[in-house]
Amino acid sequence: MSATIISGNFIASKLREELKQRVRILSETWMQPGLAVILAGDNPASSVYVRNKARTCGELGIHSKVFNFSADTPQKIILRQIQDLNANPEIHGILVQLPLPSHIQMNEVIAAIAIEKDVDGFHPCNVGALATGHALFRPCTPFGVMKMLAEYGIPLQGQHAVVVGRSNIVGKPMALMLLEQGATVTICTSQTRELASHTRSADIIVMATGKANLLTSDMIRTGATVIDVGINRLADGQLCGDVEFSGVKEKAGYITPVPGGVGPMTITMLMNNTIEAAEHAKAKAQIEARCGSMQ
Ligand code: NDP
Repeated sequence: MSATIISGNFIASKLREELKQRVRILSETWMQPGLAVILAGDNPASSVYVRNKARTCGELGIHSKVFNFSADTPQKIILRQIQDLNANPEIHGILVQLPLPSHIQMNEVIAAIAIEKDVDGFHPCNVGALATGHALFRPCTPFGVMKMLAEYGIPLQGQHAVVVGRSNIVGKPMALMLLEQGATVTICTSQTRELASHTRSADIIVMATGKANLLTSDMIRTGATVIDVGINRLADGQLCGDVEFSGVKEKAGYITPVPGGVGPMTITMLMNNTIEAAEHAKAKAQIEARCGSMQ
């Protein structure tokens, strides 16, 4: 029997209708939410991602501004730009598109973003908050995966989830979010011996390796939920995930496609986090105004 396809496009378009309402309320009662994106260098994939983010902002009514820097821009210029954006009341979310040019210390740049504007959730304070169960902003890709699992009513409590990949932006926060929901979580990496022995015992598998077609049908148990975060371009130009889709879909219970799976959810959750940041800023401004009028 063929798996149920978890459509990221479908869930994302539903969520985006709700997000538009929240943007409308903010714009009518206070101000338009604003997202700033910093793009350094000329990585073609990054340029496409940034264009898509800016387009989606436009569709939802979010004000967005992209700051382009050449690949040889000194780090201090980027840090100065972030400081300006931290202080700009019309900007509620700041995103630094990764990867950065090699001479720039990614950790220093991310740590310079004001925590309340860190809509990617990569600032060390936000990472710590997620790890201790008090997340302010959840990293967008794993947050999107959690929404997909919830939308399709896939149980997590007591289930064995295997996350393949341990990056700071996908694998690790994914594992934390699954753990938070009561799953028993295994994290696999390139160093893991016998990957299949782990994935075969999983109720839920999240693939985030960037290795095309790594997960094949003999590596899963019948009925497993398979989430494919990977985006890989084959020699013929075609996009594919980390999952050998045609074989795995015949054995899995649920599966996400590439494209049209996790990708649209990532952008949607970025929009969600930006709107949430604006809502927090509005609440703070209202409290400050009330305190001011009492003095
Ligand atoms: P990274 O390269 O940072 O991390 C890849 C991880 O996969 C590493 O932890 C690595 O292990 C692990 N890995 C590599 N090969 C194997 C293997 N053979 N077996 C087990 N583990 C392996 O990538 P990202 O996390 O940034 O991204 C992963 C994929 O997801 C990419 O294809 C990326 O394009 C895609 N992506 C998609 C998004 C979306 O919105 N759909 C958003 C973000 C990323 P080790 O640490 O030991 O090297």
